[in-house]
Amino acid sequence: MTHYKNIADLGALDGKRVLIRADLNVPMGKDKDGNPYVTDDTRIRSVAPTILHLMDKGARVIVMSHFGRPNGKVQPEMSLEQLAQPLSNALKKAVVFVNDCTGDIVAETLDAMEGDAVLLLENLRFHPGETSNDPDFARALADNADFYVNEAFSCSHRAHASTEGIAHLIPSAAGLSLENELTALEKALGNPQRPLCAVVGGAKVSSKLDVLINLVEKVDHLIIGGGMANTFLAAKGIDVGSSLCEHDLADTARAILAKAAEQNCVIHLPTDLVVAKLFKAGAENRVISLDDVASDDMILDVGPATVAGLAEILKSCKTLIWNGPMGAFEITPFDAATVALAKAAGKLTAEGAMVSVAGGGDTVAALNHAGVANQFTHISTAGGAFLEWMEGKELPGVKILEK
Ligand code: ADP
Ligand code: MG
Repeated sequence: MTHYKNIADLGALDGKRVLIRADLNVPMGKDKDGNPYVTDDTRIRSVAPTILHLMDKGARVIVMSHFGRPNGKVQPEMSLEQLAQPLSNALKKAVVFVNDCTGDIVAETLDAMEGDAVLLLENLRFHPGETSNDPDFARALADNADFYVNEAFSCSHRAHASTEGIAHLIPSAAGLSLENELTALEKALGNPQRPLCAVVGGAKVSSKLDVLINLVEKVDHLIIGGGMANTFLAAKGIDVGSSLCEHDLADTARAILAKAAEQNCVIHLPTDLVVAKLFKAGAENRVISLDDVASDDMILDVGPATVAGLAEILKSCKTLIWNGPMGAFEITPFDAATVALAKAAGKLTAEGAMVSVAGGGDTVAALNHAGVANQFTHISTAGGAFLEWMEGKELPGVKILEK
């Protein structure tokens, strides 16, 4: 088993500035007055023990994260300021926000802070150097810290300045939850019992498709739902109407289907669908067969016959990995398939018949919504990183922390 540099390896922390890469890119909703609020705070809670541990050791803690996809530009609605209060709630400590992530303003704000407070930096991705892993930007981040701690497993599959670049520059360590995550994944999935089933759904179709081409070599069953399924159905010539679908990825989808057939991986696509004309809770909806989608229909969930079949597939499997909801689970009744499958997997796990690992911001929110998150063997804070780990890929943000 690989060992990683951990917080104890950093040595004495008293008075040291420790910069933590967290993933505060949490799912948000809007209340009735239009104010944003955190709908699932799992990721915030997962980083809290490390922050509190470091504070306990006398460190001056600085937290950095990205939020959304601002593409290297300042976009006020993606400011991390909105996460200061939720972070403070999780820590039960004061959180001071500074509206940049590099420069003297960071040092000055930190020096001016009094008592038991944590400094939260502005969105890393307001700078283009973050995702391009620009060495100068990594240097500018490192300039305000003595040590670096990575607590963002969910971002560690990307070699960005805050996940990889910075770790070349100052002494670095894996945070407590990153360490736990790697240990738990290795234990549950390092040598998985078969049949092994993957459920992949959700909306980030293009990035997840890249993973599927390798995943079909590893798994015996691949269940495809959510917006992913629409892309596959369209690639098979089915009219998906106004659904979320990446039509230009049809060739990739067909290549995945062909490779799966070669590798004896059974792909399960929906056989019936739930469609609506409007994307809103309680929207009038119909359960239809694959050839019945009207041009103004949106496919928002897989249908009940599909779910019944998939529940049987789960019963035949010993290990399950899950990333991406089966439908638009935030709005009822389009949460039905996700909730039903989540309950089936939770029950099988609780009975000891299955090892189940789920990951992804929205996936975890969906399992919490279904009330079964605590029945799963392991809940990962990561979606994409978890799938790439499963593929057997080296994660650059984790690799750099190896002893
Ligand atoms: P995760 O965060 O778990 O990795 P994604 O971010 O890829 O998952 O996808 C989650 C989103 O996918 C949810 O907001 C959900 O509403 C959306 N989604 C799932 N199925 C559909 C669908 N058929 N049409 C539109 N959106 C969908
Ligand atoms: Mg998501």
